[in-house]
Amino acid sequence: MTDILSLIRQVPNYPKEGILFYDITTALEDPIGLKTIMDTFIAQFKDQKIDKVIGTEARGFIFAPTLAYALGAGFVPVRKPNKLPSVTIGVNYALEYGTDRLEIHADAIQAGERVLIVDDLLATGGTAHAVTQLVSQLGGETVGFGFLLELDGLGGREKLAGFDCYSMITVP
Ligand code: AMP
Repeated sequence: MTDILSLIRQVPNYPKEGILFYDITTALEDPIGLKTIMDTFIAQFKDQKIDKVIGTEARGFIFAPTLAYALGAGFVPVRKPNKLPSVTIGVNYALEYGTDRLEIHADAIQAGERVLIVDDLLATGGTAHAVTQLVSQLGGETVGFGFLLELDGLGGREKLAGFDCYSMITVP
């Protein structure tokens, strides 16, 4: 398999001092990289009878619609506050400093639907955990999570304990 990690640009001290930022745009620019990433996600989830694939703003939007299309599922965006035009529900979640909020259209998931949540990267798991709260508030079932990259040792996997959590690449 193509070495996807080698295609991901690592940018030190972005967006602030001390953070090593994993820039997935360089892997997406590479036709083989993009195909490998999407084919691998599709193979992972094709037999799981997914009804909806959620992509979390912003980089979850890159993978979720294509994955949903390939799985025969629908795509649902989870967005930052005040971006969705109709009736929403929201959840506040803790960041290292302060809080953030994510919203979903209240009619985007039907009770009993099987939902897959996709994002580019799993760090502390705060974002993904917040999204699963939105799914359960709407009566959906989170079937699992799909991440391109997992940063090990930040507690993300523990935060998502009990869910099927797939990461294509894990970095220490
Ligand atoms: P968390 O909620 O801590 O799991 O953070 C996950 C979200 O933050 C994802 O949407 C990522 O896009 C972004 N993120 C966190 N850390 C990094 C990093 N080192 N490089 C790139 N994106 C990151």
